[in-house]
Amino acid sequence: MKYADVIIDISHEKLDKTFQYEIPLQLQDAVRVGSQVVIPFGNGDRRVKGFVVDMAEEPKIAPERIKPICGVAKDSIAVESQLIALASWIKRNYGSTMNQALKTVIPIKKKESIRQKKTVELILEEAAARTEFTNLVSRKGHSKAKERLLQELMEHGTIAWDDITGGLHIPSSVIRDFERQGWVRVTASRVYRNPVAASGQSCPPIRLNDEQQQAVDTVLEDLRRGIHRTYLLYGVTGSGKTQVYMELIAHTIAQNQSAIVLIPEIALTYQTLMRFYERFGDVVSVMNSRMTPGERFDQYERAKKGEIRIMIGPRSALFTPFSNLGLIVIDEEHEASYKSETMPRYHARETAIARAQMQEASVVLGSATPSVESYAKALEGTYTLLSLTERVEHKPLPTCEIVDLRTELREGNRSVLSRRLQELMEDRLAKHQQIMLFVNRRGMLGFISCRACGHVIKCPHCDVSLSLHRGNQLKCHYCGYETSKPSVCPSCGSKYIGGFKAGTQKFEEIVKQQFPQARVLRMDLDTTRGKHGHEQILDAFANHEADILIGTQMIVKGHDFPEVTLVGILAADLSLNAGDYRSAERTFQLLTQAAGRAGRGSVPGEVVLQTYQPTHYSIVAAQTQNYAAFYEQEIAYRRLMEYPPAAHMLVVMVTSQEQERAERVAKEIAGLLRQTDETVRCMGPNDASIAKVNDNYRKVIYLRHKDYERLVTMKDTIEAYLQDATGLGDVLIWFDFDPMSGF
Ligand code: ADP
Ligand code: ZN
Ligand code: ZN
Repeated sequence: MKYADVIIDISHEKLDKTFQYEIPLQLQDAVRVGSQVVIPFGNGDRRVKGFVVDMAEEPKIAPERIKPICGVAKDSIAVESQLIALASWIKRNYGSTMNQALKTVIPIKKKESIRQKKTVELILEEAAARTEFTNLVSRKGHSKAKERLLQELMEHGTIAWDDITGGLHIPSSVIRDFERQGWVRVTASRVYRNPVAASGQSCPPIRLNDEQQQAVDTVLEDLRRGIHRTYLLYGVTGSGKTQVYMELIAHTIAQNQSAIVLIPEIALTYQTLMRFYERFGDVVSVMNSRMTPGERFDQYERAKKGEIRIMIGPRSALFTPFSNLGLIVIDEEHEASYKSETMPRYHARETAIARAQMQEASVVLGSATPSVESYAKALEGTYTLLSLTERVEHKPLPTCEIVDLRTELREGNRSVLSRRLQELMEDRLAKHQQIMLFVNRRGMLGFISCRACGHVIKCPHCDVSLSLHRGNQLKCHYCGYETSKPSVCPSCGSKYIGGFKAGTQKFEEIVKQQFPQARVLRMDLDTTRGKHGHEQILDAFANHEADILIGTQMIVKGHDFPEVTLVGILAADLSLNAGDYRSAERTFQLLTQAAGRAGRGSVPGEVVLQTYQPTHYSIVAAQTQNYAAFYEQEIAYRRLMEYPPAAHMLVVMVTSQEQERAERVAKEIAGLLRQTDETVRCMGPNDASIAKVNDNYRKVIYLRHKDYERLVTMKDTIEAYLQDATGLGDVLIWFDFDPMSGF
């Protein structure tokens, strides 16, 4: 090939197009699609870097105007051409610039010098720390910096050195002072090592049961015939889906191919990883969002060299540059975290299927509560359905009772714990068995309002209610705005202002009050902030260092706690009021997964499901883990309302710091769309449900059509409009196809 199409690797959106360059003879072998090259650019022939996205024999413009490539970038990662192709697929299907799409599939573009990262860890006991803190504050001429550092450490446990000196602006001398006093330990952060390789242990595979074997055989039979498909492994909680993945991975490796396993970040626990390490040893590697770019780079290099054959990680692990990819597993495929929250808002499931098609790989989607989309595709035959209908070793599913909270109140019980749940908790504590209490969502209940006038205290920047934290502080979960709780209502002056209901923290207090003999752990965003926050809490609970674990949806994923025999779901229907078309689906998933935590050991489990809407189908179906019953009702609703998967939906979000401008541009776009295609249903523009975030006004337009391609065309129309429009100022526009939540 004589010519290369190069995309300039800078974030300047104006340059989001390709430029043709000549490939000099001496570079013929070195340059290929995916190479990072150095090229002369602009009038001054400035040397810049770019990616080769295509190659051709023919020039697009007069050959004498085409400049030659200077060379291949030093230290560059040669990107697999498939990943470039995947980037353009993502760009087309989800809407973004080519630059954004490339950055998504190539998270690291240049070698990072490996810098040692230091962390500072508080080693004082909690009580001692509190005493020292009081001493610090009361001391004459006290040091604000010391006070702040100790406070931060008490809150977070461990903080990166750079965050202290950089983000918190605390001089390093203060850290050294603390170290001399024996309050903190300073350590260079550890390099990720395979924990099993060191000990040389390994674990023989478990014998599969009939259902598991049948699922595996179905896939292997297809492979023998050279067929690569997408499978939906629907298996009730505790049915042994992971064992099926492992068997298929073992086969993949035996064929000299590689596998990617996607897991929701929250379920990426030590326990899960150990199972993979024990089975496959050194060829397993892990990626997580807390890794530094340098650490990720190393992982990618090792994957390309073939030292790693199995990559486990969240969404972004999908882009591991395996050239011999054979299998992609997506565990808990229904999880909302598989959808990117930044442009391009790609869905890892669809993108995985696209990548698998390009590389002739198979895809296995697993869930106890499949997304309505995937199950519909399995029923229509687009995916192949594999079912595990029973728990392993015929363990029974937990029995589940529904308690009507309205009746509780009517009969005089004002506690957040129903009488039945209290009774069963007493029983389990007496038997030294463990209990999990699931609170629907942090913050949702923690708002402050006035009982006299109904005024709710909101963030002045984000238009969401603030929630109450320890020390009577009110916080905004979007932007971090913080203020102290007023003593009288700012609207009417009444003193009856306060929080009515509670988040996890409040529940913890209530439970501790009512069961003073119980040891209680709480897991939510507040208690898991440190680098290993999740693991610490889950490990402590697994070691039976606590009797009760209270938590948000974080506690319902991944972990296996054999001693848990009771699960209480405190406000089952709260998520039903989230106000988007997936609320019922999300509720069913949460309840089923939460209930599925009970009785995974030798003793059968019980679940108490407390709710104000005991007859809602998602709650009734969750009671018996009856996915089919739920699906039938839900798909009928989606068809009736023309919601995905019965139709497709595109959200167009227009944001600007100037309200008038956001509104004008949104109106122009909506007008244009209505003109372009009358068969596409267009709603809006309206204020987003959170109308302002970080001082940006947000307008949304919702589009619906049976045909996804039509919506892609609408997206293209908007992109073309943006190219030509004037007066856009700071306006930003993003797209979200078949959204996972409301906006
Ligand atoms: P799921 O992901 O479907 O909830 P897991 O794969 O976590 O279930 O399996 C639940 C438990 O059952 C695990 O402890 C696993 O080791 C065990 N298990 C899986 N398959 C078998 C089997 N065939 N025989 C015995 N135990 C099994
Ligand atoms: Zn008031
Ligand atoms: Zn805010």
